[in-house]
Amino acid sequence: MKAVIYARYSSDNQREESITAQVRACTEYAERQGYTVVKVYTDEARSAQTDDRPGFLQMIADIKAKRLVVDVVLVHKLDRFARNRYDSAFYKRELRRAGVRVESVLERLDDSPESVLLESLIEGMSEYYSKNLAREVMKGMKETAFQCKHTGGTPPLGYDVDKERNYIVNEAEAEAVRLIFSMYADGYSYNRIIDELNKRGLKTKTGRPFGKNSIHDILRNKKYAGYFTFNRSARKSPDGKRNNHASKPPEEIIEIPGGIPAIVTEELFRKAQARLERNRRLAQAASGSYRAREAYLLSGLIYCGKCDSRMVGTSGSYHTRVSREYRRRCYYHCNNAWRTKQCSARKVNKEEIEAYVIERLEEEVFSTRAIRKLASRLYKQYIRELKDTEGENKYLAQEIRTVEQQITNVVEAITIGGQIKTLVEQLKSLEMRKAILEARLLEWRHRHEQSTFSLENIAAYLKAQRELLRSKDPVQIKQVLERFIEKVVVNPESIEITFKVTVDTHGGGGGSRTPVRKKDQPSLSERSLCFAFRPQAAHRQATLRLSLCVSLEGPQGERLPEYPY
Ligand SMILES: [Zn+2]
Repeated sequence: MKAVIYARYSSDNQREESITAQVRACTEYAERQGYTVVKVYTDEARSAQTDDRPGFLQMIADIKAKRLVVDVVLVHKLDRFARNRYDSAFYKRELRRAGVRVESVLERLDDSPESVLLESLIEGMSEYYSKNLAREVMKGMKETAFQCKHTGGTPPLGYDVDKERNYIVNEAEAEAVRLIFSMYADGYSYNRIIDELNKRGLKTKTGRPFGKNSIHDILRNKKYAGYFTFNRSARKSPDGKRNNHASKPPEEIIEIPGGIPAIVTEELFRKAQARLERNRRLAQAASGSYRAREAYLLSGLIYCGKCDSRMVGTSGSYHTRVSREYRRRCYYHCNNAWRTKQCSARKVNKEEIEAYVIERLEEEVFSTRAIRKLASRLYKQYIRELKDTEGENKYLAQEIRTVEQQITNVVEAITIGGQIKTLVEQLKSLEMRKAILEARLLEWRHRHEQSTFSLENIAAYLKAQRELLRSKDPVQIKQVLERFIEKVVVNPESIEITFKVTVDTHGGGGGSRTPVRKKDQPSLSERSLCFAFRPQAAHRQATLRLSLCVSLEGPQGERLPEYPY
């Protein structure tokens, strides 16, 4: 087996091992596994959150182009491979296509389903904590921002910046700002405002005539009402590119009322905002752009119970019988039924099934009770795995003592005049062995002190995920669904949801991850529209180390409503 090593060191995390230590640990691991290391790729001093990793990308490119034929990519820890879960999943898939798998020295994962689950949990958490770190850094930046100083660039129209970088009003320019706000609040169109500005000979900060965009930007700028704002735009999109139009989540935007001199009154500003918002909604409704952003939250997770094929998002217009108007609806439809008509499964209403799945997830995974239970199970599992490695600690400590003794012996042999050349060679190799053992011992300690897996942190992680689920942002919601739901199967008379939450078990041997779907097991509850855990099935599934698969089944006779074509 051939392996490459990938090591990365980011200067923003003081606690992590140096590149040398990572490579050493990987080399030692490769020796133990019998792998031949053919190449080492490294990236240094770059933030873990960006994709800016030339060494890493070079490695991917080399493997994909078959310039390098290997079986394994070795990393010290999984978060060295990528901090972002999607990024990581993406590159792992790329590698898998080339027949290469990723192995981590510390996490000891293989390709079994349990490992895939644990991996997804570990990755989810390390992404979460990486975001927390970014928040801490932001705090530091806020300290400077609180002084309400100009942070660089050209100040906005109406303001100048003095020597201490404080904002001061430029009265000549402020006239244009006041005119724009009062005309807009009075209901004038952008065109009429531009005409008036031109008539008075007023220009933008760069001396050009006003356009609609510049007026829009001015109207939205809270500085004019005296608010100092900082960190408003999200600078980078997930792929690391600049994006000046996206806004940061509100809690990360710093806003200090009265932080700079106001040019328009609070009341006038609010009036203008109200009109902007009204117009925005009108424009949106007119263009129907909200439809384009419709997200199929369950795509990739939802399957047809009849033929096992994926269900895909579709939409269609229909004609109401009474009012004779066209309306639009979205569905999930069995791919087989939709494209080749080989399956007779009916489509299901998108809104209804999404709402139902989210409701179940809230209840089974994110309710306060469920979080408490899951966190404690996960933690116990984690502790058990740590205990399994205690033997390793003793072995390493023992080995280090042995090597130290051997070193002492060699040194003694040198002093009493032995074969210097041979002895020095021996000494070198013993020192090397000692260094490797010490690196492994460090690894072991690191693993034990890893604070991310405390009971509180697991619960906090789950709660944070729950907040994302409750956000109005479809992208966030979809990510949470992909993280915690393995599969939604739509049967003619029931819906089956398999959650993937990593938990420990009631003991027992191995098991299959396929949800149990025995129809003769009655559901716990007879109430209609009520789905329940089935403890028998849960126990059987819980024989897995890390996954609890629960089939949720509708009471008999329940049918999904029918939908018009
Ligand atoms: Zn089907």
